Amino acid sequence: MPDFRAGTEDGIRIILWDVPGRSMNVLGFEGLAELAALVDEALADPAVTGIVLTSAKPDFAGGMDLAAFSGLRARGPAGIFAGVMAMHALLRRIERGGADPAAGRPAKPVVAALTGTAAGAGYELALACHRIIAADGARVRIGLPEIRVGLFPGAGGTTRLSRRLGAMAAAPFLLEGRMLAPAEAQAAGLVDEVAPAAALLDRAREWIRTARPADLVKPWDTRGWKMPGGAPYSPEGFMTFVGASAMVNGRTQGCYPAARGLLAAVYEGALVPFDVALRIEARHFTAVLTDPTAEAMIRTLFLNREALEKGAVRPAGEPDRSIRRLGVIGAGMMGAGIARVAAEAGIAVVLIDSTPEAAAAGRARLVAATEAEVARGKLDAARRDAALERITPGAGPAALAGADLVIEAVFEDPEVKARVLAEAAAAAPEAVIATNTSTLPVSGLAAATGRAERFLGIHFFSPVEKMALVEVIRGRATGARAVATALDFVRQLRKTPIVVNDARFFYANRCIIPYVNEGVRLVAEGVAPALVENAARALGMPVGPLQLIDETSIDLGVRIARATRAATGAAYPDAAVDAVLFPMAAEGRLGRKAGAGFYDYDARGRRTGLWPGLAARFPRREAAAAEVRDRLLLVQVLEAVRALEAGVLDEARAGDVGAVLGWGFAPWSGGPFAWIDRTGAAAVAARAAALAARHGPRFAPPGRLVAMAASGARFYPD
Ligand code: NAD
Repeated sequence: MPDFRAGTEDGIRIILWDVPGRSMNVLGFEGLAELAALVDEALADPAVTGIVLTSAKPDFAGGMDLAAFSGLRARGPAGIFAGVMAMHALLRRIERGGADPAAGRPAKPVVAALTGTAAGAGYELALACHRIIAADGARVRIGLPEIRVGLFPGAGGTTRLSRRLGAMAAAPFLLEGRMLAPAEAQAAGLVDEVAPAAALLDRAREWIRTARPADLVKPWDTRGWKMPGGAPYSPEGFMTFVGASAMVNGRTQGCYPAARGLLAAVYEGALVPFDVALRIEARHFTAVLTDPTAEAMIRTLFLNREALEKGAVRPAGEPDRSIRRLGVIGAGMMGAGIARVAAEAGIAVVLIDSTPEAAAAGRARLVAATEAEVARGKLDAARRDAALERITPGAGPAALAGADLVIEAVFEDPEVKARVLAEAAAAAPEAVIATNTSTLPVSGLAAATGRAERFLGIHFFSPVEKMALVEVIRGRATGARAVATALDFVRQLRKTPIVVNDARFFYANRCIIPYVNEGVRLVAEGVAPALVENAARALGMPVGPLQLIDETSIDLGVRIARATRAATGAAYPDAAVDAVLFPMAAEGRLGRKAGAGFYDYDARGRRTGLWPGLAARFPRREAAAAEVRDRLLLVQVLEAVRALEAGVLDEARAGDVGAVLGWGFAPWSGGPFAWIDRTGAAAVAARAAALAARHGPRFAPPGRLVAMAASGARFYPD
């Protein structure tokens, strides 16, 4: 079965994209060849007056088939370049509408009729057409998300969009991968018009019938064309390109070859004629695709993330466990957040707290919080109202009756938790019960429910509405039904689950705490706090360890330290960290919420700089930036390996997805395990051993890493 088929109505050739066996069209090499044959045939056929490129599916296309990228990469740089140039040649034939001035053959109009979402190469194909008409629809998104998986638009999209909109206006789409709904896409100039879905093809045909010859020549193919917003050597262009370069390098710290390649392609392309610009785009794209960053990011952020979302580790044979009615205990920050995302996913929610008033107040805070989002235009008022309607504050545990799932998010106190869990188990005998605890062992809490096989951890991250990762924690006795229920619930929320086994701090917190602690240790050693923060950012961490502890609060750090010390006794390894944190907490420097922590803050809560008091307390010592960086990186990576070794993680895949989505671990690397593969286990083990000799056993390479170093094994096949 082909990916494309064609028919003719009143002289207009309709090319339908319809990849068999897939809900969303993707572009692969066979499909591309079919499309080329159909386009060339239609352009050459004198009976055809115009072409509509559309889809037989509810959406237009999701972009390149990512599996095709591995095929392309296997061809080596020359093969990649040739493949990309062949694609450019086809899109250029579409763009010229088959015109041949020498033979006196005029251009034929080609319209892209987008039935729904058009992303990546799907939208790049549309950009080559003479007119882009998008069908309206609530879920439709249009744009170029390639940058999010370490690539940039390489099918002419970079060159075309920067010329269509100007470099400045194209930046949010090219550099950030922003996707827009049809009306916004039209306002931003991504599409030419929006039509009701039922009228889409009629509009396309009508445009073909009324198109004038000038409509069939792209602006950049006309004489005297100038880049909108200014070419690089113009006063406006100078501002744009210098500013963009500074902004991109500041944000990416040079960690992302795709951002650099994209900027270079736009800048260099803007200085030369269109066809040369396409060659330049193809060269930079080839370099980016052969860099290991793209491969690692595609694997972790696309392929593996999608596999986990689609239930790769869901227990076999479990029926659909989708949640219709959710109970949430604790209407605080996390409980209210969980109630909100569930309600937004269409689930009826009962929210209870210690009193009916507290539950109502939790819901009222959600109304207030979303009010600001509505005012800023980030949230549609009607949709917000419909979602919050689904949240009913309950008077007490009896309100949980009939829930499929109950999630507990009360104070982090084992006694309080045990009490509410027992009440929930009695009130909702059919429900699976879950805890959102971040530190208490799930297997211990299970006893209170009297049905440990239907109890587990569903650990959300804060803020719940923003964070994509959810850790599903299997207690010692947790059964398949509970795991399936949690995974089906996470899928309803459109979040990404990883399933981990029960152990202190589970997975993400287990790795992030050593990162924060290493930052604090460096400060205690007298390393300039600015160097600590900058070294972390140079690694591609979204926030430095000192900023992170200020955000999460220093008293929380102190509470976790006290609990860890109580649990580990004489083996407690973090006294050096406590020596910094405890006095700060005692002085009221609790972090952002107190307006004072490792940073100072102004009256509006904005950081004004690192607290100078640190220098007085910890005499300055010179330190090599590379060593600071390695300590901050390895302390996380080694902990991830230990989590795998200890069986907290079942597989590297979940560890990589969890690291990037859960705590922002250097996304360019594709995660700690992908980073070890890229660096080589032997090199990582040697570096760890050297750091252990200087800084202590927390850097000692775990046995698994040592074994991999000896055998040359990898976490992922080469
Ligand atoms: P919070 O203090 O904002 O909210 C706790 C809520 O529980 C309060 O509304 C309180 O009134 C209510 N509560 C206390 N006792 C109760 C009882 N007996 N019955 C019913 N309700 C009761 O706390 P939070 O930050 O939302 O944390 C809740 C849980 O989520 C904790 O277990 C915490 O470890 C976990 N968690 C927190 C974060 C975070 O970043 N804050 C992240 C992940 C998990």
